[in-house]
Amino acid sequence: MSKAHRAEGASLRDESFTYESQTTAQLIRQAQDILVICHVMPDGDAIGSLLGLGWALHKLGKEHTLACASPVPDSFAYLPGSEAIVAHPAGNYDLVISLDCSDLKRLGTAYDQNSLRRVPIINIDHHITNVGFGSVNWVDPNSAATAQIVLTLIEYVGVPLDPTIAICLLNGIVTDTRGFRTPNTTPTVMEVVTRLMTTGASLPEITEQVFNRRPLALIRLWGRALSAAQLDGRIIWTEISQAMKRECGLDSDSDDGLVSFLTSACEADVGIVFTEKDDGTIDVSMRSMPGIDISSVAMRLGGGGHPQAAGCNLNSSLTEARERILAEMRHSLLEQVARHQH
Ligand code: 5GP
Ligand code: MN
Repeated sequence: MSKAHRAEGASLRDESFTYESQTTAQLIRQAQDILVICHVMPDGDAIGSLLGLGWALHKLGKEHTLACASPVPDSFAYLPGSEAIVAHPAGNYDLVISLDCSDLKRLGTAYDQNSLRRVPIINIDHHITNVGFGSVNWVDPNSAATAQIVLTLIEYVGVPLDPTIAICLLNGIVTDTRGFRTPNTTPTVMEVVTRLMTTGASLPEITEQVFNRRPLALIRLWGRALSAAQLDGRIIWTEISQAMKRECGLDSDSDDGLVSFLTSACEADVGIVFTEKDDGTIDVSMRSMPGIDISSVAMRLGGGGHPQAAGCNLNSSLTEARERILAEMRHSLLEQVARHQH
């Protein structure tokens, strides 16, 4: 696609015009009905990217459905359009866009392999562990959030930003950088943030919604989990059982604040929270200090993520999951130390 074909208003630098952005824009323009899916147990980037792209497709006049196999967490229900996200999309789609998923499994039951087998998939993601499952793979591990890539896409197809799109995308960036505290918070990220705020997205509103409010039951659960935390060398871990959740009166999962807080222990380089989910599987959520990679352990166990924030889901008991992960993690840390010394 030449510059002449670029829609008015695109404000991208020339070096950003890649094969992936061109093909993605072309497929979107040609499509009649688009299914957009983000990952199961969605975080703020998954939901923010989904809604941000959804509003842009709306402005383009494209038929589309926004889907996620899991419910929208309460802390992101404030985002415009969140009530329109469905778990079981049913339509005659001619294009699928996957957001923030490093493998097909992460789409969960929102992606029906049978009916969508022949439909092209655009895989837009920022995880280093992305396996490239799409017909087009727009994967940029240098982006702090998938929402940042979605912004590039939106500008490339020439949809003017508005406050609705901007708050969704900013929600993604704020949450994936944990409020601008992760090492991938670069000047480029802050430029993007400035652009979104200038468009009308309120940073204080996002901060209030996603970081400053949580149910008392969750705070009590954290208290129990934190006081039971164990150190294993430089690994700190704790676990949350179904019984603990019941006793604290909590009826939903998903809040990554606990594992980040746990990993702030000076005595640890790696933090892990094992959570027994309602379906009986174990969610493993991991964080590490800069310089220590945990994404390879997550990937070896069927999961994925970033060097400093990764996870996986195991079909086992809490005890088995803990023993397996701790053994893998000890081994990986020893290997990393040995590699460092060479
Ligand atoms: P969290 O610990 O916040 O759930 O996840 C940390 C990072 O790891 C996120 O980027 C998330 O997408 C990724 N992640 C968490 N669990 C899984 C999983 O089961 N599979 C894959 N592929 N990635 C995961
Ligand atoms: Mn995510």
